[in-house]
Amino acid sequence: MANFAANPEAVARVPRALAFRYDALPLNLAGGVLSVALADPNDAAVVDALRAATRLRVRPLPMAREAIRENLHVAYGESAVPDADRSGDAPAVRAVDLVFARAVAAHASDVHIEPSSGGGRVRLRVDGILRELETIPAGLLPSFVSRVKLLAGMDIADRRAPQDGRCGIPFEQREIDARVASVPTIDGEKLVIRLLDQYASTPDLGTLGMPPAILERYRAAAHAPWGFVVVTGPTGSGKTTTLYASLAELDARSRNVCSVEDPVEMRLRGVSQVQVNARAGLTFPLVLRAFMRQDPNVVMVGEMRDGETASVAVSAALAGQIVFTTLHANDAPRTIDRLVELGVARHSLAAALTAVVAQRLVRTLCEQCRVREAIPAHLRDEKRRMRETMPAQFLGTLSASEDSWYVAAGCRACAASGYIGRTGVYELMEVDDATRDAIATGASSVQIAQIAARCGYRPMRDDALAKVFAGVTSFDELTRVVSWNGAR
Ligand SMILES: [Zn+2]
Repeated sequence: MANFAANPEAVARVPRALAFRYDALPLNLAGGVLSVALADPNDAAVVDALRAATRLRVRPLPMAREAIRENLHVAYGESAVPDADRSGDAPAVRAVDLVFARAVAAHASDVHIEPSSGGGRVRLRVDGILRELETIPAGLLPSFVSRVKLLAGMDIADRRAPQDGRCGIPFEQREIDARVASVPTIDGEKLVIRLLDQYASTPDLGTLGMPPAILERYRAAAHAPWGFVVVTGPTGSGKTTTLYASLAELDARSRNVCSVEDPVEMRLRGVSQVQVNARAGLTFPLVLRAFMRQDPNVVMVGEMRDGETASVAVSAALAGQIVFTTLHANDAPRTIDRLVELGVARHSLAAALTAVVAQRLVRTLCEQCRVREAIPAHLRDEKRRMRETMPAQFLGTLSASEDSWYVAAGCRACAASGYIGRTGVYELMEVDDATRDAIATGASSVQIAQIAARCGYRPMRDDALAKVFAGVTSFDELTRVVSWNGAR
């Protein structure tokens, strides 16, 4: 195979770091099959990593390592890679690289490394669900954990104190930011690695899954010149994505847009983003007060965790800025109680608050394998009720006549899970005069929900159920994510 040329299309599909790490030379790409020259074409781990990183079928071909290395430099346009980096190619280094490559390729949000007597269980969180990837042999686990800690700038000698650190994982033309946290369990150190792709494409508010009726009204609040907009839900419910998508729609060229976050999950063009750093004294309230001295128009506060931050944010909204934030609350009406508990004065909150969105993420059914089933009788009534009482824009593709819906099955396309990707389910509470009065006078969240319903507030379960009836997700998935008490 002396006389060959690497195909640029094939080269473009294999991340540079991976190609050099494993001496893998991409040769050709045809019909979804990537031909790659390897010194050992029978090395299943390398073939696996390539397949995971490229999402292509991989055909390994033999070639002398020296020839591969020479040609790699030509193919990737590099003069040389320092050999010092390769000398440490110990099994642990290789194992860590493989786990990272497979995690990134699977679009995992987190990697969990859990020690046990039998070794280290590696699990990936994909679309919100943890699934097992592999087990690291007990003999390799300590050096595996040390390697990750070393990369993340943590103290590898200290195995008894919880630590945190961060590192970058090269992927395609960019770097994935990895946040590593360790906890000493009785079986050894457990690591959780959060993967943040700060340069991934900016989310689009129009494709997050908001029903048209909510989207239109939410946009009106988000594009207003001032106000206090809160997005609420548990961890991993997509709140930050909604805020990023909201900020991305605003004109950052003619407005001063600032954000304070912990951590910065994504870079936004034209937005001054500040990363909270408690050790350096850079806290949410401190940064927020500094922003206020810089004539802001739009301020995003990554999360409301304390009373001081909440109070400064509310004052900023009352002073004529638009403030976006996230909060942990179960639903939109209960957000009021949470903010009051944090110490925000009711009358200020009533005056500042313009809109509250509550949301969850549900997995979307794999369209290749979903199976039609009859809707149980009591839920058929629910469908009828929704069709009669809900505004048409809420219902989307909700079909009028059929008595069936879809349930998950599983096929090759969805890795046997029955689901591919996720979508949001939402509720929106706009604050009109009646709701404002209720907030100011200390009404309960139940009363606030009833008052808000008069100006169009619908609980999240309605949007979720509409998505079940439309075949977007399943009823099983709905009950996993949204609290469901059957009758209303
Ligand atoms: Zn499927």
